[in-house]
Amino acid sequence: MGVCSRHDLCIFSSHHLHISLLGCDFKMSLDGHLDVHSPEFLASLSLSFKNLKVSKVKQRSSKSKILRTESSRSGQRACGRVLVILMNMFIVFQADGFLRFSLPWFALQPHVNLAAKMASVWLFVLIEFFYACTSLVDPGRPGRKDIASNRWCNDCTAPKPDRCHHCSTCSRCVLRMDHHCIFTNSCVGLRNQPYFLMFVFLTMLGAGLAALAAAPQVPAAVLSFSFASTLRSLHPIALCLSAAIAFVMLWNLLLAQMHLLIRNETTIESLKNWADRCNSSFDQGVRENIAEVFGPPIKLLPDILFDILDGLDQFLSYDL
Ligand SMILES: [Zn+2]
Ligand SMILES: [Zn+2]
Repeated sequence: MGVCSRHDLCIFSSHHLHISLLGCDFKMSLDGHLDVHSPEFLASLSLSFKNLKVSKVKQRSSKSKILRTESSRSGQRACGRVLVILMNMFIVFQADGFLRFSLPWFALQPHVNLAAKMASVWLFVLIEFFYACTSLVDPGRPGRKDIASNRWCNDCTAPKPDRCHHCSTCSRCVLRMDHHCIFTNSCVGLRNQPYFLMFVFLTMLGAGLAALAAAPQVPAAVLSFSFASTLRSLHPIALCLSAAIAFVMLWNLLLAQMHLLIRNETTIESLKNWADRCNSSFDQGVRENIAEVFGPPIKLLPDILFDILDGLDQFLSYDL
């Protein structure tokens, strides 16, 4: 082993050459005599530099990609938190407007008025409850039993069972993932989909009622409109318009979700199936499909069994 007297940058042994140049280490196998001025050596050196440049560029681009993904992810999360606050403000605005402005306009009998108030407060509580459940209940994470899965998530470096998808915003895998909802700032998946559907249904119902209740006051508010109008006089218009827009949006969302529910498809799967022009491969029949999301139906009454006389069971199409 010795040091090259001409360049002061090479250390060579009988079998390997180690070059330290520009902070980079090269190791080259040698057989016999090495001529550092030979075209072969220079060509291999230039190739090594090229490879080094490519790997450094790749490293830099993957680092900047990770940084970009991380910043967009944190941006989406921050945006989601703002939307959650706005959603809660909207729900409170509608409930408050209904109780303070819309309902008194009808001048109902005291007991009917009280019943309407109690029903609307109960609806408000239910909406907030299902909204909180959708946001806070974990949508489902692959567990140990999914270790046998033949799908793999490169981001989580963990097995990924069927119907499980990786959410780039939440940076995790979600079981039976439907979509990432920015209005609840969470993924909708296996465990919180029933809460999400109940939230959408009840909010749509509440928005429809709020729009209908505010509608009779809208013509008078429009006719008396002037630029000097107070905010209070514009309240019925804002209430009715925002509730009507929310109702139309939620109605469409609910129809789409119901369509997927009875086909046993998630939003992600339906987009994929639509692109591939194929049908849902998880369809088990409407009843079973609904039971898969909401659980088996609750039996209010026990099954009543009647004795079948011997011989008459031949007319039954199913086994007793
Ligand atoms: Zn994952
Ligand atoms: Zn998500």
